[in-house]
Amino acid sequence: MYSALLSELPPDIILKDEEMKRHTTFRIGGPADIMIMPQTIEDIQKAVEICCQNEIPYYIIGQGSNLLVMDKGIRGVVIKLGKNFKKVDINQNMIQAEAGIRLSELSKLAARHSLSGLEFAEGIPGSLGGAVTMNAGAYNGEIKNVVFSVEALSEKGEILHFNSDECKFSYRHSIFQENGCTVLRCQLQLTPGKQDEIRQTMREFARRRKERQPIEYPSAGSVFKRPDGLYVGPMIEKMGLKGYRIGGAEISAKHAGFIVNRGNATARDVLDLITHIQNTARERFNVELQPEIRIIGEQ
Ligand SMILES: Cc1cc2nc3c(=O)[nH]c(=O)nc-3n(C[C@H](O)[C@H](O)[C@H](O)COP(=O)(O)OP(=O)(O)OC[C@H]3O[C@@H](n4cnc5c(N)ncnc54)[C@H](O)[C@@H]3O)c2cc1C
Repeated sequence: MYSALLSELPPDIILKDEEMKRHTTFRIGGPADIMIMPQTIEDIQKAVEICCQNEIPYYIIGQGSNLLVMDKGIRGVVIKLGKNFKKVDINQNMIQAEAGIRLSELSKLAARHSLSGLEFAEGIPGSLGGAVTMNAGAYNGEIKNVVFSVEALSEKGEILHFNSDECKFSYRHSIFQENGCTVLRCQLQLTPGKQDEIRQTMREFARRRKERQPIEYPSAGSVFKRPDGLYVGPMIEKMGLKGYRIGGAEISAKHAGFIVNRGNATARDVLDLITHIQNTARERFNVELQPEIRIIGEQ
């Protein structure tokens, strides 16, 4: 099944039976049959082309900070955009950056250039590509507010350009969750600001995160999307589930909107907790909670 990939791609970018727990912030997930760590856009193009020709499922990841990968892992190919896709170019208030750069790095860089608009992103542990795909946001900021355009690779291997409207951003959603495109590069439009004010805002957001979020344990951030007009954490608290555990997974005792891995949690433990929360929310409050985290792989 994978012979074309193995023969046509450089061997040093291919990992076989790679444990996904090494690539997710949850530290959970069984092996992916094949993981590709592309070094160039051509590597990604080639990998996507071979997968499409051979009907091999493939999945793009960044920092794996919004993923629950199931325990039996992934039958197919994972393409990880990481350290080889971190180039950044700053021209006045425009930043052109590759998808693999970490958001935290990018927001620090923007601050160094006295550019405002990415303060919210400092504590989000994902890549730019993941943030655009998920329309990541915090503290009244969202990536959609600064995206000017996106360059992406289609499943057919074409390089496409999307302006901000064409990205169809909405709450934790973008067109890239639907069109199968790989985000390669983004142009961000920031606003000139005062460096000390930008840094002060970032410090304040970091302080709030440390105080309120269980960043000391592996997690994938907020598990559920926020239903209109409701806050998930306090709702789960009202259900009496704060600190509730299944196996090694726990509804965080610090912030009930997070599930944390307290050591050797399985994906099944996390999924069972998610189902338990959803059932209780339905019974108690007549609310359907939708996961924000992406659940992938074989159960
Ligand atoms: C402690 C903690 C705090 C967090 N706080 C926040 C927060 O405040 N706000 C928030 O919005 N999120 C938050 N998150 C969630 C997560 O960091 C964001 O969703 C982040 O943007 C995901 O980026 P990633 O690179 O890790 O994506 P991944 O988890 O690797 O992937 C997420 C999705 O994006 C897709 N994807 C990734 N890269 C690409 C690409 N280049 N092209 C196409 N598709 C791609 C994947 O296929 C997947 O569907 C938090 C997570 C943690 C662990």
